[in-house]
Amino acid sequence: ATWFSQVEQAPKDPILGITEKFLADTDPSKINLGVGAYRDDNGQPVVLDSVREAERRVAGSHFMEYLPIGGLRDFIQESVKLAYGDSHPVLKEGQVAAVQSLSGTGSCRLFADFQKRFMPGSKVYISEPTWANHFNIWRDAGVAFEKYRYYKPETRGLDFEGLMEDIKNAPSGSVFLLHACAHNPTGVDPSPEQWRAISRAMAERGHFPLFDMAYQGFASGDCDRDAQSIRIFLADGHRLAVSQSYAKNMGLYGQRVGCLSVVCDNQRDASAVESQLKAIARPMYSNPPLHGALLVTKILQDAELKQMWFKEVKGMADRIISMRSLLRQQLETAGSPLSWRHITDQIGMFAYTGMTGDMVDTLAAKHHIYMTRNGRISLAGVNTKNVARLAEAMHAVTK
Ligand code: PLP
Repeated sequence: ATWFSQVEQAPKDPILGITEKFLADTDPSKINLGVGAYRDDNGQPVVLDSVREAERRVAGSHFMEYLPIGGLRDFIQESVKLAYGDSHPVLKEGQVAAVQSLSGTGSCRLFADFQKRFMPGSKVYISEPTWANHFNIWRDAGVAFEKYRYYKPETRGLDFEGLMEDIKNAPSGSVFLLHACAHNPTGVDPSPEQWRAISRAMAERGHFPLFDMAYQGFASGDCDRDAQSIRIFLADGHRLAVSQSYAKNMGLYGQRVGCLSVVCDNQRDASAVESQLKAIARPMYSNPPLHGALLVTKILQDAELKQMWFKEVKGMADRIISMRSLLRQQLETAGSPLSWRHITDQIGMFAYTGMTGDMVDTLAAKHHIYMTRNGRISLAGVNTKNVARLAEAMHAVTK
């Protein structure tokens, strides 16, 4: 026997498991609501026109050298402007350390490794529930985690009181992982008023906020509005970190393009922190990929292309929002006496329907409709052609 005969099969990723079952289903009317990637009204993946134009402009470039460890300078500058606001004082004062990252996942992992090294003894507080990979990322970085209350099943909304209590009870100096907008999987975001209260409570306890912003522009359709949580915390004087991803809002999923930034007290600290982020990146992947960063930079540096992209990201957000209304309406038309208001109250790519694991299993077995067992629907998979059938099936399993 070799070493490898002792190796056990790793557990399947839950989302990939759903895709496999979906692909194996031969029913022509099958629906996949598991995948967290945008689809148009015909169920097709989309390449944005702004991205196509950026590709034309980048094509034929002879530059295929390595990027620096920290990534493309112009890309980073544009990214932090998008996150913090064009002329935010923290940018003018040079307080921001930032590196290009391997999309949102890579940003989170880079921060988690930084936390392990430079914020010793601190735990990370993660919302219950959250994007499942958050747990894996901090576990593999060797940082202990706790959960904070976030979602209230009775109202299918925010557990604001529970969240505030958990902030107060966490040891001072804890890291709180917050979803800047479009919380995954619940679609439940705090109101601006609630964000202000959360910010004040966290400042009082001396906690450190890390914003995972995987959906800027994708929630409301407006990039500034989706970043308002971050701007509220900055106004309160927080030091904080932001993980950005261009996977969803530019449709650059496979290009792995993102940015991790850390707001520090001053320029000296920012420079030191940035140098340490690079020291973590270097033995892990040496330097980030070039192509996606060039595309993003072309779009964000050109006023016309940027406007074109703003429109396109709003178009995606608007389609999702209209599918929420349509699904709710169709459930009512199908005769469901239950309240489906939460579907239109929630925001972002997902609806947290409240359906149980058993209901989800029945949807797959009897109706050829696939989603995660926590009852989360990816609205990207819903369109004008399948929404009535989906609503009827949801009504049938929730009767
Ligand atoms: N964070 C959250 C909350 C997400 O939902 C996702 C993607 O689904 C990510 C991070 C990471 O995405 P990516 O690594 O593709 O940018």
